[in-house]
Amino acid sequence: MSIPSTLKFSALAGAMVSAALLAGCQSRDTASSALPPPAQVNMQRLLNADQEGGQWMSHSRTYDEQYFSPLNQINDTNIADLGLAWFVDLPTNQNIETTPLMIDGVVYITLPWSKVMALDAKTGKQLWLYDPKVAGAWNINICCGVDNRGVAAWNGRIIFGTLDGRLISLDAKTGEPVWSVKSTPDERRYSITGAPRIANGKIFVGSAGAEFDVRGYVDAYDVETGERLWRFWTVPGDPAAGFENKTMEMAAATWKTPGWWNTGGGATVWDAITYDAVNDLVIFGTGNGTPGDAVRRDAGQGDNLFVTSIVAVHAEDGSYAWHYQPTPWETWDYDTDQQLMLLDIDIDGQKRHVVSQASKNGFFYHFDAATGKLLSAVPFTDVNWATGVDLATGRPNVVPESRPNLTGKVFNLTPGPAGAHAWQSMSYSPLTGLVYIPATTHWQLIGPLDQRQKYLADHPDTKQTFTGRLTAWDPVAQREVWRSEEFINPAGGVQVTGGALATAGNLVFHGNLPKREFAAYRATDGERLWSFDTKTAVLAGGISYQVDGDQYVAVAVGGPMPGGYYAPNGARLLVFKLGGNTVLPDIPPFTEAPLSTAAQFADAATITRGAAVFEAQCQLCHGRNGAARSTFPDLRRSPALTSQESLDTIVLQGALSERGMGSFREYLQDGDTVALRAYLISLAEAARAQAAGSATPAR
Ligand code: CA
Repeated sequence: MSIPSTLKFSALAGAMVSAALLAGCQSRDTASSALPPPAQVNMQRLLNADQEGGQWMSHSRTYDEQYFSPLNQINDTNIADLGLAWFVDLPTNQNIETTPLMIDGVVYITLPWSKVMALDAKTGKQLWLYDPKVAGAWNINICCGVDNRGVAAWNGRIIFGTLDGRLISLDAKTGEPVWSVKSTPDERRYSITGAPRIANGKIFVGSAGAEFDVRGYVDAYDVETGERLWRFWTVPGDPAAGFENKTMEMAAATWKTPGWWNTGGGATVWDAITYDAVNDLVIFGTGNGTPGDAVRRDAGQGDNLFVTSIVAVHAEDGSYAWHYQPTPWETWDYDTDQQLMLLDIDIDGQKRHVVSQASKNGFFYHFDAATGKLLSAVPFTDVNWATGVDLATGRPNVVPESRPNLTGKVFNLTPGPAGAHAWQSMSYSPLTGLVYIPATTHWQLIGPLDQRQKYLADHPDTKQTFTGRLTAWDPVAQREVWRSEEFINPAGGVQVTGGALATAGNLVFHGNLPKREFAAYRATDGERLWSFDTKTAVLAGGISYQVDGDQYVAVAVGGPMPGGYYAPNGARLLVFKLGGNTVLPDIPPFTEAPLSTAAQFADAATITRGAAVFEAQCQLCHGRNGAARSTFPDLRRSPALTSQESLDTIVLQGALSERGMGSFREYLQDGDTVALRAYLISLAEAARAQAAGSATPAR
């Protein structure tokens, strides 16, 4: 194991100050009201995070991204006494995806619309709330909700990214901005939803936007000034403009169809970024290409580096170190942005420092963290797009039928585009040696729309399920040890489980969407020991921390509700401790607006045109066939359908911009909104007919 010289110094300094830190920890622990300046996080503290196991100072607590708490006051023998210590209502009804930090008695969380809140970790008293005032109209540049997954802390500062692409540093004590820089390029539809990571005074952050037209990248910034230090593009730009470096030239050789640069290429670094202190590398995952359909992106069938890849760059200057692409010429939306965990484990009887991922594509991978050499790839869920991975070449053995864009035939894909594992945290317990994966099984028909009905008729046993579970995975043997019960989301949608948190109390905490609960399992054998009725979906993962001698478990909850976009969704931060007996109030009842009764005014051709407009511009947020994701309004219930003028005021003139519905004028042609209104009325009519049918008693 070689440690860079800068780190040797840091490690030495860390050893020298650790005793003082521990002493400091005691005073911080017992005197939460008379604190030194908060969030004094630095390299020494983060490298020695296990010496302050009561803190949660970075996104996954440690640079290993293992998402494990070494606390054991709450354990498998006393968990029956775990109850709610306090909760805080969060001012939103949108999805909550944040992982809190807890540093020196203060909890920091993010809220939708890139807001940040600081709370007293013992009482829940709000210390400050910062709103970066992202313009509502920016929502049309966001694929998947106005989410944010967390902040980073360093030297008294709280650092986070915003939906409109700013990177902001706040004073941890006051919540006042210290600096703010525009991080994303101006000209395209970028957004930031992921948590930054910080090491040696450098902030590492990427962006989202590959559903639109962006060119992915990861950046490093000076944490004190906000100055950008380097940028690593994940796909090559227009060769005529010259390549930024040799790596881009190498990547460009894997794109066979000129013009890819016009749509940006995609490959955004929207979630996983891991700092490997052993090798001084920044290791990150990239998302789908743009367009997502590989044939439309590159009919020449190039691998398209670094789309859906794991890439390592040197932390110092952002220069390329290694890459691995699990799905060359990717076409199934198998983003590779899932958490990248560092493990020191035996592989084939040899101690190795590896980086591991439970990929959206269904395989659990190990790579040598220094070189990127593929060491193992084994499915952790149902997989039918590949029969395996060739360890010698690193390439998957792709099942030809899984590419309908080449065969012209329907295929029932698993994992479907929702994946086998998404952004939800997985957790590793060094005590059990198991990785706890929020895993899903998703089957989805892909291929020509007009053949799907016939396919279903010909294959009546076609699986079309989307289920989630907690899977305990032995990363050495590469096999499942246990799994929780399956969670089925009857309403559909793309999320079903929350993140996982393993603790030294032989527990794994894990929430879910369908049962609206936060549960604990015995880490060794998966026995379900405890659960709490959260009254709303749990999408994020929990953390655990200690203040004044008490261990707490905290989880931010809030997800889609049956009443849709306008319904209160019980978004809250819930904090538990042994003996906690706070009662969680019910969510106020809500009645959904009725389906529109606007009369159809158009012919079939206009409705068909409207369907195409809807699919191109509206479906991403408002749901396929109008079956809205409840995080955005169900347009079949919109009062605006009663008049063209009302609809145009919203769609073309941006009347609801501040609520997130910006003007689509630049994306629409003359007559599109008329067709759109006709289509939405047809959907409302169909839904009313279906409701009337199902209201008739069965005989
Ligand atoms: Ca994607």
